[in-house]
Amino acid sequence: MTTETLARYHRLETKRLGSVPGGAGYAVKRGLRGYPLHPGVALLAKADLSAERVLDASGGGGLVALAAGAEQKVVLETSKAALRCAAWTFADVPGTEISAGAPWDAPPGGADLVALAPPTDRGSARVRAELAGAHAALRPGGAALIAMHKDGGAKRYERLAAELFGHLEVIAKDGGWRLVRARKLNAKTPVVEKIAFGAADLTLSADPGVFAAGKLDPGTARLLEVVQFGAFAGRRLLDMGCGYGLLALKASLAGAAVTAVDDDLLAVRSTHRNAERYGADVRALHSDVDSELQGELFDVVLMNPPFHVGKQVVMDVPGAFLAAAYERLTPGGTLLLVANRALPYERELAGFASWETLHSDAQFKVLRATR
Ligand code: SAH
Repeated sequence: MTTETLARYHRLETKRLGSVPGGAGYAVKRGLRGYPLHPGVALLAKADLSAERVLDASGGGGLVALAAGAEQKVVLETSKAALRCAAWTFADVPGTEISAGAPWDAPPGGADLVALAPPTDRGSARVRAELAGAHAALRPGGAALIAMHKDGGAKRYERLAAELFGHLEVIAKDGGWRLVRARKLNAKTPVVEKIAFGAADLTLSADPGVFAAGKLDPGTARLLEVVQFGAFAGRRLLDMGCGYGLLALKASLAGAAVTAVDDDLLAVRSTHRNAERYGADVRALHSDVDSELQGELFDVVLMNPPFHVGKQVVMDVPGAFLAAAYERLTPGGTLLLVANRALPYERELAGFASWETLHSDAQFKVLRATR
């Protein structure tokens, strides 16, 4: 049953793009932001995208690039799930370059048009960094198309964009979603800074937008309090959804052989950096759940699963996390997870040999399951 959950999670679903003559095919999957279709990305894909060199940094798995008739298209994605979709979508479309990267990794000044749908739920540092990245990627006079929801702070960020670019106009609105065009009239691009902070007695840094925005998440804090990390010495441990790598680093410093995975490239970069600072040997992989793991098995899996997508609770990814933990644990291996008290993880743990609640309080519970 868990195997089936995981197979369903990893399945690519193919669709046709109505706005393109002939209806070009594209792929989506669970775990893609806004699955099956992010409304901001949909708004971008319907916009006037005429330009020669288009950079699609909207996080839509390349859908906007597919809709653009451009000669030269680049898709930049931080999400591994989105990259997996883009790889399918562009398998037979020559001339499109797909890379793992943030908007601010794009070569400067090369684009005529940049498409953005900044993840406002990841905090203002991330939105500002994406605006700066789009600005840097554009040639003078080039335009950014930016889709955001009014409840995500669209109007506030539009004022920021207007200041940064020197121009802004609203071009479409749809059910709270707003699409604006910002033309690059100002030359000066702000620098994208990493966030430096301390958590759990460690000095750390995180790229903008990496969970939990430069602080120790209270759920993660609970897991650190309740679980004895000393017991992980000599164990093969998997940190699933590692964020900036705190759990991975703690486990590695306690003597575990640690693999960490995250769908977010910026989380993986942050984890590498934090591990390096402490000379910790953490193997951090850019992976959609377990997509980049080979056949290896682990004695322990740790997780603080993601469940929020904007304001909705979406259980696709945490369901896949639990199913993957089951698949990747040795018989007798241990899953340790922290979750908001109200989330129904117990149901998903039914396939394990046993499970128990190690801790529960008004907000959180820490669960332990044995394979
Ligand atoms: N362990 C970290 C982060 C927990 S938040 C901490 O405790 O601070 C959950 C993490 O899961 C986020 O970093 C998010 O990027 C990651 N994530 C979301 N979807 C994922 C997926 N499909 N595959 C792997 N990681 C994912």
